Amino acid sequence: MSISGAMPMAPELSIVIPVYNEADNLDALIARLVPILERVVSSHEIIFVDDGSSDRSMEKLREIHALDHRCRAVSFSRNFGKEIAIAAGLDHARGRATIIMDADLQHPPEMIETFVARWREGYKNVYGVRIDRNADSALRRMLTRRFYQIFEQFGETGLPDGAGDFRLLDRQAVEALKSMGERARFSKGLYAWIGFKSIGVPFDVAERHAGVSKFSYRTLTRFALDGLMSFSTLPLKVWTYVGTFISFCSLLAAIYYIAQTVTFGVDVPGYASLIVSIMFFAGVQLMSLGIIGEYIGRIFAEVKRRPLYLVAERLEDDAAVQPTDPTRAPARV
Ligand code: UDP
Ligand code: MG
Repeated sequence: MSISGAMPMAPELSIVIPVYNEADNLDALIARLVPILERVVSSHEIIFVDDGSSDRSMEKLREIHALDHRCRAVSFSRNFGKEIAIAAGLDHARGRATIIMDADLQHPPEMIETFVARWREGYKNVYGVRIDRNADSALRRMLTRRFYQIFEQFGETGLPDGAGDFRLLDRQAVEALKSMGERARFSKGLYAWIGFKSIGVPFDVAERHAGVSKFSYRTLTRFALDGLMSFSTLPLKVWTYVGTFISFCSLLAAIYYIAQTVTFGVDVPGYASLIVSIMFFAGVQLMSLGIIGEYIGRIFAEVKRRPLYLVAERLEDDAAVQPTDPTRAPARV
């Protein structure tokens, strides 16, 4: 790629860090991260994406930026969610490779050395595989595992087991991700979909440095639905088969009742079976309508073509280039 021509200041490595109310973690993160970066790569930049934090995160980022211009920041006008924050970080990253990591030190910065070593061996998509999610509750671990099993069965793209957002992406992979303009972003699916020479590197998930997880079961459920629906059309198609099967059963039932009437005459009772079948069919129809509604809702969100995110403030260095257009016009795709 002719990236070096287009961007003479391109550092070797960019780090993208989504930040949502992480003021108490940022100093500790920088203190651990920068010495490792200085040892492992020739040049680097750190891009913090402030996802509409309401605490002192942005002030902290201003202090960090004033001390070290290699630390840049993009601040959203409101909370857009981690997936979109990552997309914005990739839009702003200029490095020949980019690492995505959390701000809460659950992703150990020491792994960067291994990631970069694999990248130098020629891998373009080096992903961290969490050895154990002990840091999360047992219920969340169980539900996460279940989700991956369902995704494995129904999704049209396979997901490597235990792979998450902590990963290194080569410039080529970053450009591929940037070309995908979808709003319902399920990054774990997108990373797998783009392909490229990939390798998993196991790592231990650390405890959160400060604060609590930003993901409730409600947001995780929403996220799981987004993931399944953007990578599988099976929930839409399955209704054809269910419908056919039910129609076939009702045909058999009709034959049975006709035969019964012809043989034994008209039988007055029968309300129970009528009511049951009406309720059953109404239920099936509502359910299939609901599934179609879920997809149409997503289509609606995509066709509105709203910008993926709105930037309220940027902390840039002198060589800052304007990021690619966040509205993601169709011409780019
Ligand atoms: N995050 C974000 N926007 C959100 C929620 C979270 O940018 O709406 C960031 C958060 O600051 C952290 C990362 O995403 O850097 C992971 O969040 P968290 O630690 O809460 O999630 P968990 O580790 O429980 O999956
Ligand atoms: Mg965390």
